[in-house]
Amino acid sequence: MQKIPLVDLQAQYSRIRPEIDHALAEVLASAAFIMGPQVAAFEDAFAAFCGAGHCVGVGSGTAALELSLHALGIGRGDEVITVAHTFIATAEAISAVGAKPIFVDVDPHTYTLDPGALAAAVTSQSRAVIPVHLYGQPADMTAINALAAQHGLWVIEDAAQAHGASWAGRPVGTLGHVGCFSFYPGKNLGAYGDAGAVVTADAQIAETVRLLRNHGRRAKYEHEIKGYGERLDTLQAAVLSVKLGHLRAWTAARRALAATYTNSFVDLDLTLPGVAPDAAPVWHLYVICTPQRDALARHLASQGIATGVHYPIPLHLQPAYADMGLRAGALPVTERVAAQCLSLPMYPELSQTQQARVINAVREFFGAPHLDCAAHVMATAGKPGD
Ligand SMILES: *Cc1c(COP(=O)(O)O)cnc(C)c1O
Repeated sequence: MQKIPLVDLQAQYSRIRPEIDHALAEVLASAAFIMGPQVAAFEDAFAAFCGAGHCVGVGSGTAALELSLHALGIGRGDEVITVAHTFIATAEAISAVGAKPIFVDVDPHTYTLDPGALAAAVTSQSRAVIPVHLYGQPADMTAINALAAQHGLWVIEDAAQAHGASWAGRPVGTLGHVGCFSFYPGKNLGAYGDAGAVVTADAQIAETVRLLRNHGRRAKYEHEIKGYGERLDTLQAAVLSVKLGHLRAWTAARRALAATYTNSFVDLDLTLPGVAPDAAPVWHLYVICTPQRDALARHLASQGIATGVHYPIPLHLQPAYADMGLRAGALPVTERVAAQCLSLPMYPELSQTQQARVINAVREFFGAPHLDCAAHVMATAGKPGD
């Protein structure tokens, strides 16, 4: 029985190998490993893709968040409101600049920042909010931006999982003041190592991030401010430019897979991902919720199907954030999702046959009859992917 992974980076590389190998060979031949021309070329291409005025490539998604907070002057004594249902880097960046993360609950349908909880968490110390477009689902940016404007907060979007998603027709990353992207290999747009980017419409913020990522320097040994060593690597930029050319097609494939999952599970007793009317998600992950999560994961594993849990321990209950003094029960929706969520295989190269195996294994677990997935896919083809 062939195994079905959660993501399959080898399948992707094998399809674009000539293009990638050529781009890498060019960098190797030129030996322009640090800030080679491929870096600016990718920044221009990614800015255009996002419809952003400026893009600054950095060393990782975590660096994108930390440098953005630093560039906005956020530090000691400041509070930054964000979610506990996210990868820990969102909060670590806040801690790294000396500010305090304030964790709020998520919406029970989209699992993204609940604007009502944001409103309740604002204090005189609040300086910024970081909504996370988790799983590729955009957060409710209309409500979040309105509250941020009312309270004078910076809006930093954590778009690490949402390249190309949009809210009310506008791409994520351009809805707040600053957008932060990760190109970690498993992300929708992934490098072959660590990489990230900051996008913004604000030339001043872009310029500060540009200085910060490269030791605060303008000239070779002239350092205007204290910065970081967080440049985007030239080899990674070359990989990213090749992959960016495929991203729209890959997103379309993810949307078709998500629609097929949803159509195949509607009769089952589980919680399917909720999509807000203004949202056009990009399905970094397809996440279902059920109180029988662990048993379902074991059933799928017994059939060679990998699953994931994103994320099993909310940040406010992590030992690293024990100093916040929050206990179990503080964020009920977050805690329920952490206990019940299961990520199913989701990557553009997942074949119809593979997906049919996943679907029928899930249906079997809930005692539902198998679907004739080929016929089912035909019947649902042509429906919008989200
Ligand atoms: C991946 C990720 C990050 C961190 O990105 P790295 O490139 O791994 O540093 C931050 N936030 C979220 C939501 C992520 O998924």
